[in-house]
Amino acid sequence: MLITVIYIAKDIFLLYNGQKFERNEGRMATIIEGKTLAKKIRENLKIECEELKKQGIKPKLAVIMVGNNPASKVYVKNKSKACNEIGIEYEEHFLEETISQQELNDLIKKLNNEKEVNGILLQSPLPEHLDINQAFKAISYRKDVDGFTPSSVGKLVMGGDTFISCTPYGVMKMFEEYNIELTGKDVVIIGRSNIVGKPLAQCCLANNATVTICHSRTKDLKKHTQRADILIAAIGKAKFVTKDMVKEGAVVVDVGINRNEEGKLVGDVDFDEVEKVASYITPVPGGVGPMTIAMLMNNVIKAAKEQNNENSTF
Ligand code: NAP
Repeated sequence: MLITVIYIAKDIFLLYNGQKFERNEGRMATIIEGKTLAKKIRENLKIECEELKKQGIKPKLAVIMVGNNPASKVYVKNKSKACNEIGIEYEEHFLEETISQQELNDLIKKLNNEKEVNGILLQSPLPEHLDINQAFKAISYRKDVDGFTPSSVGKLVMGGDTFISCTPYGVMKMFEEYNIELTGKDVVIIGRSNIVGKPLAQCCLANNATVTICHSRTKDLKKHTQRADILIAAIGKAKFVTKDMVKEGAVVVDVGINRNEEGKLVGDVDFDEVEKVASYITPVPGGVGPMTIAMLMNNVIKAAKEQNNENSTF
């Protein structure tokens, strides 16, 4: 009897370790290749842009940057590069750090009225004396390619046709490409910013997920993250999401962009550990970042088409 119990215990031990081995060593998550998908989207947009030009429509983006934030300069440069590659016309408005709210709003209004400008992008952050929400409010929703104006956000909430802000839109495209179904899934988003967390929650809700938004005041964060079928991190803290916070087989999306002590780009997720338990995971770099720019380009082309369509109800 005792021997039988010992053998059963040994079998259970081996089975458990066997499973553990398979989970930790054998099964790695599928990497969601944002970079590759973004390239495919940009290539298709290039073809679409050439077609529009044959019809006499020249898509154009105007970018406004206030001050000298070095990170913003890099983002603006990347956007201009993407425009060049696709054939979208591009103009930059670099404004002095000391510009007044009135001067900024006046420039936005001028661009609203320029027929050849299809999209207006205001690069954040702005210097502290300027109110970014006031500036966003000044942008015509028909040219709001970032999807940040109150009209665009309202239409997103109500389920209308609108510009979806680029990072959430990029994440949704990734789900689509990898056939990741959202209906009935528990989605947990860490982060409630206006540019990522909140619009992403709306997009997931529109796709029939049950959504929880967590933030810095959330009690027992791990309790929420551990039950997520799809966990999205948009926090801005390197390696914040650790393996013990993730349910076995969860889809993990890392929006974060941080620099570690060596100056290397890292996300909000401890990638090397979390990929051992996740079913799908986005890398940083090469995940959500390239998708954000691709979806901005998509929105500029959409703006050009809508503004040149007499029957547009947009
Ligand atoms: P944000 O405005 O600073 O928001 C960060 C969010 O994280 C806030 O809602 C904050 O909660 C929450 N948070 C902070 N500490 C937390 C904690 N200990 N526990 C739970 N929640 C916590 O940032 P963001 O603009 O959304 O950006 C988030 C990250 O995504 C950044 O790394 C940014 O660089 C990156 N990003 C990447 C892309 C891309 O294209 N890949 C685009 C945009 C942003 P509270 O609201 O309570 O403060």
